[in-house]
Amino acid sequence: MHNFTPLGLDTALSLTEHGLTAIGQHHTKRRLTVLCLITDEDRSCPDCGQRGHVRSTRIRRLVRPPIGLIAVILAIRIRTFACPYCRRRWSQSPTKACVGRLKLSRTARLWALKSVVIDKMRIHVIAKNPATSWNTVCTPIVTPGRTSLLAAAARFDGVSTIGVDEHCWFYRGIDRWITVIADLTSRTARLVDIVPGRLAEVLSNWLNNQPDQSRAGIDHIAMDAFAGYKKAATDVLPYPTTVMNPFHVVALVANTPRSSMGEKATPGRDPWASGPVGDD
Ligand SMILES: [Zn+2]
Repeated sequence: MHNFTPLGLDTALSLTEHGLTAIGQHHTKRRLTVLCLITDEDRSCPDCGQRGHVRSTRIRRLVRPPIGLIAVILAIRIRTFACPYCRRRWSQSPTKACVGRLKLSRTARLWALKSVVIDKMRIHVIAKNPATSWNTVCTPIVTPGRTSLLAAAARFDGVSTIGVDEHCWFYRGIDRWITVIADLTSRTARLVDIVPGRLAEVLSNWLNNQPDQSRAGIDHIAMDAFAGYKKAATDVLPYPTTVMNPFHVVALVANTPRSSMGEKATPGRDPWASGPVGDD
């Protein structure tokens, strides 16, 4: 038999480890708002160490991971103190619950990052669950994504086959093309990197920026018929085997009957010609 304890939001929402305690809740059909206090209330003046008086109180809202389809918002009561001796003013900060001025709590930030990387969810879908905005979700996960995932040295361990292709991610402006690099070594492809641009220099620079051991382990590259990618691969890698990926093979085969019927060929669209083939 378990040792049951009284019901409490502190335990259910892990508020204690984030330096918070719940003092109230407001529950609607799709949203739970929990009123919280910061447990670590140090009233000592940062300058003279005297005990400060409460001058004002405001509410700061943090987004927490949803419970099922119910969004959970932490409404944290932030107190501002004033020193009666040196007139210094300071405010509480929920540093255990969030980073800086971000609107996502630490647990929500980790949850959002996992949702993107592991569950392959889109940002707007993630934002819909906790009833927040696209920017509120995207901005906090960019930094931990770069530091904990993109900067990980073991990211290229065992990579011997990569796929390279261009992708139009934005339909206006001159910066709409990116080069996508995927790890095709195992059965399930894995996105490795995204680099702005689609020139040969983009791939050659990316290959040159990889650690020597990782670069030497790449022996096969799947790509479209863009001669620039092929040249970049053969220039940088010692003995690469370049192959055209199935999508572009099918696209070329599908276009062949039209060419043979007298359609004027599009300049730069021949296999291994000087221009990019395929605009997926
Ligand atoms: Zn003071």
